Amino acid sequence: MFREQYPYFLANRPVQANADLPVRHKATGETVTRVALADRNALERAIAAAADAAPAMRRLPAWRRQEILLSFVAALTERHEELARALCVEAGKPIRDARTEVTRAIDTFRIAAEEAVRMYGEILPLDISERNTGYEGHVRRFPVGPCAFITPFNFPLNLAAHKMAPALAVGCPFILKPASSTPVSSLLMGEILAAQDLPEGAFSILPCRGPDAEPLVRDERIKLLSFTGSPEVGWRLKQQCGRKKIALELGGNAACVVDEGSDLDYVVPRLVTGAFYQSGQSCISVQRIFAHASLYEELRDRLAAAATALEWGDPLDEETFLGPLITEEDAERVERWIAEAVQAGARIVCGGRRHGPFVEATLLEDVPPMAHVNWREVFGPVAVLKKVRDFDHALHCVNNSEYGLQAGFFTRDFGRVRRAFAECEVGGVVVGDIPSMRVDSMPYGGVKKSGFGREGIRYAMEEMTEPRLLLINDNYFNREDGS
Ligand code: NAP
Repeated sequence: MFREQYPYFLANRPVQANADLPVRHKATGETVTRVALADRNALERAIAAAADAAPAMRRLPAWRRQEILLSFVAALTERHEELARALCVEAGKPIRDARTEVTRAIDTFRIAAEEAVRMYGEILPLDISERNTGYEGHVRRFPVGPCAFITPFNFPLNLAAHKMAPALAVGCPFILKPASSTPVSSLLMGEILAAQDLPEGAFSILPCRGPDAEPLVRDERIKLLSFTGSPEVGWRLKQQCGRKKIALELGGNAACVVDEGSDLDYVVPRLVTGAFYQSGQSCISVQRIFAHASLYEELRDRLAAAATALEWGDPLDEETFLGPLITEEDAERVERWIAEAVQAGARIVCGGRRHGPFVEATLLEDVPPMAHVNWREVFGPVAVLKKVRDFDHALHCVNNSEYGLQAGFFTRDFGRVRRAFAECEVGGVVVGDIPSMRVDSMPYGGVKKSGFGREGIRYAMEEMTEPRLLLINDNYFNREDGS
């Protein structure tokens, strides 16, 4: 499945470095391959090459950018299963979820190919008073220039795609630093990109240790830093990035409200998916469930039965629903947080045990507010159930969080839908489904500690461009002597 070694890409070309990084099979711990590891010198060269490539990238016509993106879509489609298997092993992601991620990445590039030819501007009539007669404005967006992208381990393919695709759509050169635990999928995309006819220096993909990525954060030649990862790292980088633009896609402890009268036949399987897919390692994983008192006990018992039936084990096995956590240390942390909650009075409804890097699908109730599983991001297969009196109480509980990425509501009451939309402190309100729902074209991002800016192709393209005004004075062109 893997080659022995993968090169990194520096200024569009594959390079074998002196140092390398082992990539582990996340379920067994064995080293499955090694990837070239970039040092500071490689990063400096990539930044210089991206700065040199910026004018040529800016000048690529829209049809050409679309052509490159479509060719990328074709190559990803051809290599679908190879990419899915690589993702499965390097991220410990169950194979069915890995295939979905590849399909989503294809969608992401396809949407970018469509948007690349739709970068419309604006015409502004500026004759707003007598003294401005004859003035008109044209506004067009231009690429910001070299971008730096830093991505996490949990969706290593599609989250890199969410940065690469809009950059190619608008004509920005970029440098991508993938997570050290899951670099292979980005490098496979590098192979595909290297086969395109792009200006030299248009892209570099450089696995390196987090702190060694500092030049990408501080160098003024980089005009935009787009980071997806933990709030701890993301907000720190915002302090360090100087005058460049920054987009932060960070974590959360997403809530889902189950209102009175909800159809539990529909709700239960959706909640189980939201809380436990990818072993909870998703930024919009359902972590807090607020259920109306009238159905709380029935919901709890049905969720427990469904969660207990989930298969855990080898991510390559077609039946596996729960794979390993990204490291055994992370699984130990989740185990500690469960134990801490129980010590403080919580009750385990189901699950609760760890098996090496695997954690059982776990539901807790009666959890005290200050337990980590309540107020921090667990990033593991754990959800907390709480009984709420009414919809006001539920809304209060949703907003009682440092985070605000997405919230889900199962309710058919239109007035409550409107209130949730108006009052929830989140980037997205999902009605009739779990907060874990993301369509790759929609605006996506958080408020509070969860982020800054939005992704979703068209929205990321906006972040990667700047508006420029052409102010035209017709009086000059209309002078009678024609001068
Ligand atoms: P992480 O530890 O913050 O790492 C994310 C990336 O930042 C990795 O590439 C990491 O490199 C790099 N990094 C670490 N320290 C750095 C530094 N000092 N300077 C520059 N780069 C640095 O996050 P993770 O554990 O991979 O991912 C989980 C987090 O991502 C969760 O909080 C999750 O909610 C969030 N997430 C958010 C979204 C979203 O769209 N909102 C989507 C997915 C995940 P190394 O791997 O080399 O350490």
